[in-house]
Amino acid sequence: MAETKFVYHFAEGDAGMRNLLGGKGANLAEMTNIGIPVPDGFIVTTEACTDYYKNKTKISDKIKAQIQKALAELEGKTKKKLGCAKNPLLVSIRSGSRASMPGMMDTVLNLGLNDQTTAGLAKLTGNPRFANDCYRRFIMMFANVVVELEKHKFEHIFGEIKEKKGIENDSDLTAADLAEVIKEFKAFYKKGTGEDFPQDPQVQLMKSIAAVFRSWNNPRAITYRRLNDIPGDWGTAVNVQMMVFGNMGDTSGTGVCFTRDPSIGTNKLYGEYLMNAQGEDVVAGVRTPLKIDALEKQNPKVFKQFVDIYKKLEKHYKDMQDIEFTIEDGKLFILQTRVGKRTAAAALKIAVDLFAEKMISQEEALLKIDPKQLDALLHPQFVPAELAKAKAIAEGLPASPGAACGQAVFTAERAVEFKNAGKKTILVRLETCPDDIEGMNVTEGILTARGGMTSHAAVVARGMGTCCVAGCGALRISEEGRYFEVAGKRYNEGDFISLDGASGKVYGEVIKTQAAKLTGDFKTIMDWADKYRKLGIRTNAETEADLKKAIEFGAEGVGLARTEHMFFGTGRIEPMREMIVSNTKEEREKALAKLLPIQRDDFYAIFKAMKGLPVTIRFLDPPLHEFVPTSQQDIAILAQEMGMAVEHLKATIASLHEFNPMLGHRGLRLAITYPEIAVMQTRAVIEAAIQVQKDLKIDIVPEIMIPLVAEVKEYNYIKKYVVETADEIIAKSGVKLKYMVGTMIEIPRACITADEIAKQAEFFSFGTNDLTQMTFGFSRDDAGKFLPDYYSKKIFDSDPFVRMDLDGVGFLVKMAVDKGKSARKDLKVGICGEHGGDPSTIEFCHKVGLTYVSCSPFRVPIARLAAAQAAIREKKGGCASENR
Ligand code: PEP
Ligand code: MG
Repeated sequence: MAETKFVYHFAEGDAGMRNLLGGKGANLAEMTNIGIPVPDGFIVTTEACTDYYKNKTKISDKIKAQIQKALAELEGKTKKKLGCAKNPLLVSIRSGSRASMPGMMDTVLNLGLNDQTTAGLAKLTGNPRFANDCYRRFIMMFANVVVELEKHKFEHIFGEIKEKKGIENDSDLTAADLAEVIKEFKAFYKKGTGEDFPQDPQVQLMKSIAAVFRSWNNPRAITYRRLNDIPGDWGTAVNVQMMVFGNMGDTSGTGVCFTRDPSIGTNKLYGEYLMNAQGEDVVAGVRTPLKIDALEKQNPKVFKQFVDIYKKLEKHYKDMQDIEFTIEDGKLFILQTRVGKRTAAAALKIAVDLFAEKMISQEEALLKIDPKQLDALLHPQFVPAELAKAKAIAEGLPASPGAACGQAVFTAERAVEFKNAGKKTILVRLETCPDDIEGMNVTEGILTARGGMTSHAAVVARGMGTCCVAGCGALRISEEGRYFEVAGKRYNEGDFISLDGASGKVYGEVIKTQAAKLTGDFKTIMDWADKYRKLGIRTNAETEADLKKAIEFGAEGVGLARTEHMFFGTGRIEPMREMIVSNTKEEREKALAKLLPIQRDDFYAIFKAMKGLPVTIRFLDPPLHEFVPTSQQDIAILAQEMGMAVEHLKATIASLHEFNPMLGHRGLRLAITYPEIAVMQTRAVIEAAIQVQKDLKIDIVPEIMIPLVAEVKEYNYIKKYVVETADEIIAKSGVKLKYMVGTMIEIPRACITADEIAKQAEFFSFGTNDLTQMTFGFSRDDAGKFLPDYYSKKIFDSDPFVRMDLDGVGFLVKMAVDKGKSARKDLKVGICGEHGGDPSTIEFCHKVGLTYVSCSPFRVPIARLAAAQAAIREKKGGCASENR
């Protein structure tokens, strides 16, 4: 059997090999082959990285031998030699994974320098300043990346020497000054490691390659992968490339350019460069770089060559490119090209423009946009320049996107009071509860110390489109004392704070926001998406404002109206509470009679707003104790209202306590104990539908959904009440009304027995929040506390409550779809758990043949685009990961 090839020369690869060579390596290979001036080099593959981890973080002898061989060949081609003082080869060592992870992993430049080769380089170039400059950079990078000494300590030493010499610009340091820096750096290296700085370039090389492999698993890379759905087992490739020097003097330089404006998408070269500098100087901000246009005056020949190259690259890759270049003594080299990261607005404009320029098809244009990015366009945004200046005080889970700024308040009541006084707030809570709903509704943003991505705060906030950062464990909150503390500083009620719902960052200051703009490009892309997608898109909503938003964003129906959400708020919670604490059927029916007209009006409003589009109404689901009063005052009021002794009421409330409410008396179990609840809700749905049909002359087919079924007999028991009640009302009304009765599939047993259930249920909707909870046995409300350990210990790449666990939960979903359809061919199957708005889950939903996905209003555009991408990819026979 032929030996696995772990090392490729640039000339041996191409752009199609990104899985093996990483994005950077594959592009360097491609550029080499299309005649772009790229310094020569080779790539150690992603498989070598996987092997390194398998081999207890050691580079195997086989791989080392292949690296040595490739190096010898590179030496032959460049006519230079690593470690040779007369004509030293210097190389850069850079990471490069399949998906671009900018800045997340490590790089070592100028490798190959030691005391001898530095002297040799000085002699060879006649430029000792340049040689010393490279050496001091190398020592610092190697020390930081390979032996993990802190970079800022080196910067401090460097700064001190500059200060001593009275020098501001690095480029003004002389060769002798830099020799002093090298001496100090080496001494610091020895102090920090107990060893001399390694002089053997072979040792430097192997250690640096291993360090880049290791950087695949540094904490920021792990977090980046989780947020961007990049699997942890992909590994990174390592690119070993001959150095070219931008710091050789005034005819040398280095820069970074985007072929179009990455913030607004305009078709204009955008970038900056520095003369007499190396790459990191441009980003480090030590010297202010020049705008790329200035290069035209400074060196028109190189500029013209660069323009030709960038145009060629953009045409070749059919996308906006982010290009790194170096000019070495007047000669241009391209060090990297990759698809440029861009804002959501730019992504839309670039996709639409590339189609108009006939570079790509509509399908290709749709695949270029990351659906998750669209979120940023729908919510208020921070003014980017202001955000860049601000410093975060803490970080939690990015539970609901958007940018919020306001005065901290610690109770829902205070949020309402502030609002009434015309003030903007951020509601800071340990965790939110249904009682907080009014406060959540009026606040700009919600910040909680506890809870995960499907905690109450997160779900409600996303539904409302309110920015939310949840599970921010670093906060020490005193709700009673009306303050929180973080990093030794106290923030009191009324202090201004800001939340970034996209990053989960919390700021202790005002950051200005601007309203979202939906441009014409947005509409164009959405129209294209609708043309290609097969999945229907519905929304999870019940209030008029949310329904309006959802329709505006393109929802084609309601996939989940949570009826319990309709009982929050004054005038509603009271009869709901009466119903819950009733001791007799009569008392309960009295309370239900008060709730009936309220529900009927709500359903009427939903049907009216949806104008005949399908509406799924889910019957009462949550544990009842969530609704019972907790304050003495509320208990007293309720007791009086019901003519009940306070002590008696307190005993009833205590009896509702459950040890595991999520597994307790909720869902259809409530209606099994109290069928009168299902009867009242059926009455409200059917009467509202008849009335809408009469008033507005639109045909509607309400879909009644029974939650939390595990066993078909449970379902049948409730269905009987629903059907009897509905048929009787319809018969009496003289109106022809069709309705459907179906169920949520959210318990593993329901998946396993889905064929039996489908014989009785006309539709399924997957409640994947509960299905995830019950498949893993992770409490939805508590998982946020321990899941971070799963990420840092690499047990999970992502939150299973956000991105569906395809092996377990997905397996159950597919099985239930297949079994359900085997029993009822035309079974309508949707998903209404939070996963319904997650792009990678949507691709799965498309593949297993769901009828629709349903998500909160603000995720509707994301779902439209993701559904189109799934259909296009299926047609092309590709998968999501290949396109990242
Ligand atoms: C679910 O469990 O996925 C679901 C949609 O229901 P809820 O979140 O209301 O339990
Ligand atoms: Mg559920």
